[in-house]
Amino acid sequence: MSELLAQLWTPEMQAAFTVVLVLLVILYVLSIVWVVRDAYLRGTAWYIWAVVALVPVLGLVAYCLLRPPLLQLDRDEQELEIALKQRQLMKYGECANCGYPVEADFVLCPNCHTQLKNLCMRCNHALEPSWTVCPYCATPVGAPAPHATRQRRPSGQARQSRPASQG
Ligand SMILES: [Zn+2]
Ligand SMILES: [Zn+2]
Repeated sequence: MSELLAQLWTPEMQAAFTVVLVLLVILYVLSIVWVVRDAYLRGTAWYIWAVVALVPVLGLVAYCLLRPPLLQLDRDEQELEIALKQRQLMKYGECANCGYPVEADFVLCPNCHTQLKNLCMRCNHALEPSWTVCPYCATPVGAPAPHATRQRRPSGQARQSRPASQG
């Protein structure tokens, strides 16, 4: 039996055995590093988990099963991010006529010039088509509208982003 073992235990076998052993040790060390880092990021007592991770294989499996959930702070941050994105989506819409992306306070579609909003006759705020009264100055929508000057008013149409040079 020992002769058989000696025949099998060639230098090639020794080299292969060494390589496998080194790989296992590297894996083992990496698993400990991962457990310590992950436990630290989750805000738990990482040194306790480091001791647990010293048990080969079993320590790693135990940590994967029992590791604490993500930090509350991280979850709050994720929820905040989602809420922000939803608000951004609400701020932008698209033109009902041509589908061009428009912002919530656009009065005209910049692409096809379809009127998206009405303008308040008194304060020139953009109003939703369904509103019957201006929420900014309480003027009823369309009630005292002077005829034919609805779309192009000489003094008021230009908003702060556009220089009102002519008119
Ligand atoms: Zn359009
Ligand atoms: Zn108004």
